[in-house]
Amino acid sequence: MKITRVEPILARLPYEHGAPKPALGMGPQRATMDALFVKVETDEGVTGWGEAFGFATVPVTVPAIRDVIAPLAFGRDALDIAGLTGDLKRRLQNMMHGGPARFALSALDTALWDIAGKVQGKPVWGLLGGKGRERVPAYASLLRLPTPDTCAEIAATAVARGYRHVKLHQKTADMVAAARAAIGPDISLMVDTNCAWGLREAITNARAMRPFDLTWLEEPITPPDDYDALALLRREGGVPIAIGENLGNPNDAKWMARAHAADYVQPSVVKHGGISDVWKMVNEARSAGIRCVPHSPFVGPGLIATIHIVAAMEEDIFCEHRYCDLGANPLGDAVLQRDGFLAVPQGPGLGIEVDEALLERYRAG
Ligand SMILES: [Mg+2]
Repeated sequence: MKITRVEPILARLPYEHGAPKPALGMGPQRATMDALFVKVETDEGVTGWGEAFGFATVPVTVPAIRDVIAPLAFGRDALDIAGLTGDLKRRLQNMMHGGPARFALSALDTALWDIAGKVQGKPVWGLLGGKGRERVPAYASLLRLPTPDTCAEIAATAVARGYRHVKLHQKTADMVAAARAAIGPDISLMVDTNCAWGLREAITNARAMRPFDLTWLEEPITPPDDYDALALLRREGGVPIAIGENLGNPNDAKWMARAHAADYVQPSVVKHGGISDVWKMVNEARSAGIRCVPHSPFVGPGLIATIHIVAAMEEDIFCEHRYCDLGANPLGDAVLQRDGFLAVPQGPGLGIEVDEALLERYRAG
C-alpha cells in the first residue's frame, strides 16, 4: 500500500474558556484554538490522520510537513511504519533531533498507525496490546488565567462539569491558593509554569506552593532540559516535578531519568515521534520507575492518539484534556469529556470520523 499524499491542514477553531484568551501562537493575541491536522492518503483508498505540534511553531512545522516529510514519504509503503520512520530519522538526522521536523514526522507516524488499524480492523489501543477500556479519566488543563478570582471560578466550574483533576498554567502561589480553596482538598491539582524560572526562583516558588498539595509542578525551569537544576529542585523544593513535552526526543527522557530530574515524564505524541516513540517512552519510563503522563492539550487527532496510548497502558493514569468549549469541532464527540472521562474509540485505527467540510471551513494553511 503506497503513500500518495501527505497534507498538512491547519485548523483555527473558535473557542471560549470563560475568561480572557491568552496568546497561544505567534504574533498578536490569538482568538482561536489551533489544530495542525495531517492527512495521509494511499493508493488503496485508506486514509490516515495525524497531528503535529503547531501553535508558535506553525511557520516552520507546516513547511516541514509539506516540503520535507511529504516528498520523502511519497511512494513508500504505508504499512512499514518502523522502516519508513527509521529511514526518515536517519536521512534527516540534522533536523530530526527535536523540533518542527520531528513534529512533522510525529504526525506521519500517527497517521500510519491509523492506517494500520484500519487495515487490520483493530483500534490503535489493541495494536499496542491494551486490554481494552471503555473510557479514561481526563484532567482539565486550564488555559492561563489573569487573576486569582478567575482561577478560582474556572477551576470550580471545571469540577462542576465532572473533572476530578485540574491543572493550572500559572506562576504564583496566590493563584494556586485560590484554585485549591475553590476546588477543595479531594481534587488533584497540578501547576504548569511552561519553563518560567531559574533554579533559585523555582525553589522559592515551589516552597511557596507546597502547602497546596500539588500532584506535580510542571516545567518549572528554563531551559527545560537542565537536569542538574531539576534534580536539585526536586530535593529542595518539596514538590513532585513533571517534565517532558519540551525534551528533544526519547533519548532525552532516558537522560532525564538517569539524572533523577523528575517524578513524572510527559512524552508528546505530536512532538516526539508519534505513537511509536511515545509508546517506547511509556515502556522506558516504567523500566526507570518514573510515572508517565503523556502531554495532550490538543483538540485534534493528537488527543485521540493519546487516549489510545493511555487506554493501552498498564498503569491507571489520566489524560490531559484542554479545558475549553469549541465553537467548531471537526472530531465531534470524540474530543469531548463526559463526567470527567474521555471515551476510548473502539473502531479501527484511531476510530474517528473527521468532518472534512468543517475542517476546510476553518482551514488557515
Ligand atoms: Mg505543559
